[in-house]
Formats: sequence, structure tokens, C-alpha cells
Amino acid sequence: MVCKTEIGRVDDRVEPGESLETNAENLKDDRAVRNGARLLQQEEVVAFPTETVYGLGADARSPEAVSKIFQAKGRPQDNPLIVHIGYREQLNELISGEIPEAGSRLIAAFWPGPLTLVLPKNDIIPDATTAGLDSVGIRMPSHPVALALIRLSGLPVAAPSANSSGYPSPTRAGHVYSDLKGKIPYIIDGGPCPVGLESTVVDIRQKKAVILRPGGITSEDISRVLGYDVVQYRSETIDETPASPGMKYRHYSPAVPLKIVKTGDLRDKDLDEYKDLNPVFILSDETAADVELTDFPVIKMGKRKDLNQIAFRLFDILREADRPEYGLILIEELPEYGIGRAIMNRLQKAASR
Ligand code: AMP
Ligand code: MG
Repeated sequence: MVCKTEIGRVDDRVEPGESLETNAENLKDDRAVRNGARLLQQEEVVAFPTETVYGLGADARSPEAVSKIFQAKGRPQDNPLIVHIGYREQLNELISGEIPEAGSRLIAAFWPGPLTLVLPKNDIIPDATTAGLDSVGIRMPSHPVALALIRLSGLPVAAPSANSSGYPSPTRAGHVYSDLKGKIPYIIDGGPCPVGLESTVVDIRQKKAVILRPGGITSEDISRVLGYDVVQYRSETIDETPASPGMKYRHYSPAVPLKIVKTGDLRDKDLDEYKDLNPVFILSDETAADVELTDFPVIKMGKRKDLNQIAFRLFDILREADRPEYGLILIEELPEYGIGRAIMNRLQKAASR
């Protein structure tokens, strides 16, 4: 389908000093939010900001509406969508059975926020939304625009990242526009996404919680709340047994090939082998100051010791490096703790093809 893509900018209704609740309630009067909610009610798709990345939302109860998400993104049909809710209590309307103890604890600690819980679904959620699975991933976002939109629509909103399937996720309205213009009717522009990486997906159907995808809430945080070390489902295994089907696809990849390089290997003399490939380097500020890559273009991604800042900028930088004049993106390896686990997970996916 070809259509005109309109961008509605959110007026300055978000007061930094106010609570999330107050800001979300005030935003229900915003013109862009109202337009978005109306389109959702008409079974249309709408891109909107969340604290993680921009989402492409549709009525999660409607197979017809969610099919437009798959179509616009070119998303594989067997990759389930995360359902976004506006109030904690809305969870009960979408799942079958009771919320397990681990779920109640994680909700109390991390909702609203970048944590998705996988639970048995009920009949309100159609197979189209969960790609035929009998479970559903649900989260309550902490972005005031996302909350206002979901609440005003009165719907559970299915929303994957609002990018072309396989490419780096969108963390700014401009990223959504460049990927999906002509394919979706409306983008709510609420500025850059503060976390910059997708939610952590946790399966809490068994006795022990399992992390299916690392993300904005760290495994250390989750383990602390649950009182035991939470297992990280290894992505190699996911590729064979799709516990989280999305993990098996090409993901987060710029068109230019990407390779991860260890910090210690970033000396001019070691890099001669890449010379003919027109590489661009993405380095931490510390490394960029330390090594002098005189012959190559360098993009700085922020300080190694501030991984949250690197997460915030990561997808924007991958898009910036994705230019036809470059033959290869060489990005510095980062430590795999805290949010670094999610960063390296995305980079490893981006590097594999
Ligand atoms: P995206 O929204 O594009 O960031 O991707 C959503 C991620 O959540 C994918 O990796 C999905 O496979 C995963 N996911 C969503 N729903 C479920 C579910 N019911 N069970 C397991 N994984 C899920
Ligand atoms: Mg995605």
C-alpha cells in the first residue's frame, strides 16, 4: 500500500518536574496524540515514541490491524509482537490464569518500564499478534507519549520497532520516516528515545524466570528482585528452538557490513588489512583519544564508562555509519555487563548475516 505519511509533533506539554502520571494525563489533549489514538481505533497503524525505541502500533485485538504492521515493516510472519498496555491492571484482560509470583515482583519493580513479560495469552489476543504462539509478550512503557496514546485509544497496542525489518531500530522520528515513509499514515514525533535499546524479554511461565532477550532492564536488576541468578537463554539455542522467534532473524543490521573489533586490536599498524575496504570506525571516546587512526574516518559513540549513553546513541550511530561510501563498519567491542550485555547482543546480531 502507498500512502502519505504525516508527522505530528508533540507540543511541549511534558514538564520535566512533573510525574509521569501527570505528564501522560496532560498529553491526552495533545493534537498528535489524539490523531494517533483515533487512527488506532480505526484499525490503522501509528508510529510513536517509547522509552526504548519508536514502536509501530496497532490494535492488538484485530488481525486486520496487526497485519498492516507486518506488511509495512516487511516483518516475517512467525515473529510475534509485543503488546503494550496503559495500566498495570490491563494485563489481567489479556492473559489466561493468574500472574505468577515472579511476575508480580517484576511488575512492582520495573513497570512502567523496558521489561516485557511472556505469559499464557487468552482469546482476546489473536494468533496474528502472537504469530500462532499460545503466549503473549506484554509491557507497560514509561514514556508519557506512549502512555497517553495507549490510554486514550482504550486498546491493548501491539507494537514492534518502527523500522524496516532487519535494519537498525529507530530511536528518532526521522529514522521511522526514512524507513517507512509511504507505508504508514502517521508518526508521532516525541523526540529521541531515552533508553535507545529495546525492552528485556522475560519468560515467567516456568518456575524460574528466563531472559529471552537482553534489553533496557539488566539481568543483574532482575536477579536482585527475584533473589536468584536469572538464566540468559543463549541465542545460539534460540536459533534452533525459537523460544523467542524474533531472535533468529537478521536484525539491527546496517546495509554496510559490520564487524566487532577488540579494543586491543585497534592500532593503525594492525588495521592495514582493512585499508582497501573503505572502513569507518565507531570507537568509544577513550579509545578514539588513545589510538590515532590517521588514515580512517572515526565516529565517536560516547564514553566506555557510561554504557547508558552509548546505548542511547547506538542505533543513531549505526544509521549514521550506514553510507554508500563506506565498505565496512568496524565497531569497538564493549564490556558485557549491565546494559553492555544488550548492546553487545545487538552488535553481534548486526554483525552476523
Ligand atoms: P521487537 O518488537 O521487534 O523488538 O521484537 C519483539 C521480540 O519479542 C522478538 O524477539 C520476539 O520474538 C519476542 N517476543 C514477543 N512475543 C513473544 C512471545 N510470546 N514469546 C517469546 N518471545 C516473544
Ligand atoms: Mg525490532
